[in-house]
Amino acid sequence: MSRGAARRSACATSLPALLFLGLGVIAPTACVVWFMNEAASAQADAARQSIAEAYRGQLRFLRDRVDFYWKNRAASLELSAGKGSAADFERDVKAGLADSFVLAKYPTAGVPIADPAVDRADWRAGTIAEERHNAQAAIGAWAVVAKSDANLSVKARAAQAEIRWLARTDKEAALRAIGEYFDRGPMTKGADQQGRLIAADEQLLALRLMQPRDTRHGVIVRRLAGMLNDYQGTAMPSAQRLFLMDEVRGIAPGTAFPTYEAERLAAEFLEGGDARSGGSGLQPTSVPELWKLPSKSGRVTALYRTSTVLAATETILAGGKGVRFAATPPSVRTFGEAIAAGAMLPGWQLSASIVDPEFMEQAARRRMASYLWAGYLVIGMMAITSLLAGQSFRKQMRLARLKTDLVAAVSHELKTPLSSMRLLVDSLLADEVFEAKKTREYLQLMSGENTRLTRLVENFLTFSRIERNRQRFEFQRVRPGDVVASAAGVMRERFPGAGCDFQVDVEDGLPAINADPDALLTALVNLLDNAYKYTPGEKRICLRAFRDRGQIVFEVEDNGIGIAAREQKRIFRRFYQVDSRLARETGGCGLGLSIVESIVRAHGGSVRVTSRLGSGSTFSVFLPGGTRSEKAPA
Ligand code: ADP
Repeated sequence: MSRGAARRSACATSLPALLFLGLGVIAPTACVVWFMNEAASAQADAARQSIAEAYRGQLRFLRDRVDFYWKNRAASLELSAGKGSAADFERDVKAGLADSFVLAKYPTAGVPIADPAVDRADWRAGTIAEERHNAQAAIGAWAVVAKSDANLSVKARAAQAEIRWLARTDKEAALRAIGEYFDRGPMTKGADQQGRLIAADEQLLALRLMQPRDTRHGVIVRRLAGMLNDYQGTAMPSAQRLFLMDEVRGIAPGTAFPTYEAERLAAEFLEGGDARSGGSGLQPTSVPELWKLPSKSGRVTALYRTSTVLAATETILAGGKGVRFAATPPSVRTFGEAIAAGAMLPGWQLSASIVDPEFMEQAARRRMASYLWAGYLVIGMMAITSLLAGQSFRKQMRLARLKTDLVAAVSHELKTPLSSMRLLVDSLLADEVFEAKKTREYLQLMSGENTRLTRLVENFLTFSRIERNRQRFEFQRVRPGDVVASAAGVMRERFPGAGCDFQVDVEDGLPAINADPDALLTALVNLLDNAYKYTPGEKRICLRAFRDRGQIVFEVEDNGIGIAAREQKRIFRRFYQVDSRLARETGGCGLGLSIVESIVRAHGGSVRVTSRLGSGSTFSVFLPGGTRSEKAPA
């Protein structure tokens, strides 16, 4: 097989292998990229789901706390309610236990009582005077009863009637009578048949009778407000209290009634008719946005506005980062994750909604980024691995090609000297008698072929060692003149005889260099060999050694065929020959100069050629003039 054919076949085998390598990298990379995308989007969903699941867990925990909180409230109602009196109502409302209460004794509608006055003669006199529309008589009759020893309520009712008649005729007299009967003293406790506190009603009447600018106005407002705010001292039905509060607020808007809202809520609730207790937990009432919470025994019912329930529950539902937990009343739509709020808030829901969707997206993005980076890492590693694999593959390919080239060169180059030697031996043996002159001549020719063969084999071996990095250089102190002398000796031995003017010129006093003398000799012999081979006819070859700018230069000059400028770089490549026909004739295989270059490089030097086609060539080897101490023995 020719060397070109061998190279072509090597290329042919490397193409599918390269293709396979490309596919082996591209296909898995594409798969990894696809997988990364899939994994990243799946992870984003998973991240959202796991966050949602975490919120659900938190919601369940919060639900238990909310439930516990309201159970506690229901239990504490029982304890705080006491006897269920108006004073208990006032205290609990002011303590903020609920927006309002319905207790056992408060608020309740006044219950009519049997009239203790009907059997009294003086009472009848008043009634008759009233029926006759006799104001004077009525005033007189009622004044008698008011001042009698009758029971407090009877006296107060009579005083009320007297004041009513006085107000028709003389407002000032009526005001005086109100002050006299009801500003202080026992009659201030008197109640009418519906249980209403007469003194309080009379204070309102006083306010209505006088001008707002009246100096007494403020005093009466304060007195009446004091009565209305005094749940311990003044007993009156809640309906009357609320009515009077409303009136006073109308007359003197700035007046403070801390329990007003609670009274109003309780009244609305009772009006709604759903005071019936029962059930547990917060229950809706007929009043919009109002909830009742009955105590266990049913003796107390606390009333809560929706806003109060939300505010109380919100203190428990402290939000997390980027999430808001909220309680939602029944029939209100929830957003995000939601669960039932538990037995104490039937119908209510607890929900977790993302306040900052960016927060969740960020978490998902962070996960995605970590997956992408992992993917990039894998791709990067794959790229590096494939690069290394490619390099090693290329190296293998190169070696395979070299092997092929070498085998082709060896078989080809060995064939010529061997066959010419066989020819010479055969022709000698064909003679019956050995002619001394002819025999000597043939033996000399055979010796030449032998030398050529040896040289070839040496070059092959050196090349093979260099290629396999097996060439060991033994550095030592070498005098350039000695190397030159050895090379000249070899050359004279190889090319004796006429037709070759071989000059040696060594500069005096050259310093010793660190070099492997055998390797250096191989390099110089190769150069001299080429000079000899590629100089037809009269040969003038010169081997020099001199110093140039701190370097030691070995130079081989010939007057041979020369080398074209564009070939001068290529000739150092392995197996490269400018003219393969000529090379075959001269017995070369294209390895000599590549061996020279490898040896010179190993010495830290360089080799250069200057040549002109038809005029000869000069090969210069530059070696460092200093010492190479690292490998060389001193
Ligand atoms: P070869 O064994 O063919 O001589 P080399 O590597 O020694 O291989 O040389 C490579 C080629 O360089 C040669 O084939 C030849 O064409 C060219 N060459 C080398 N030395 C010289 C020279 N002194 N003069 C002209 N051509 C040369």
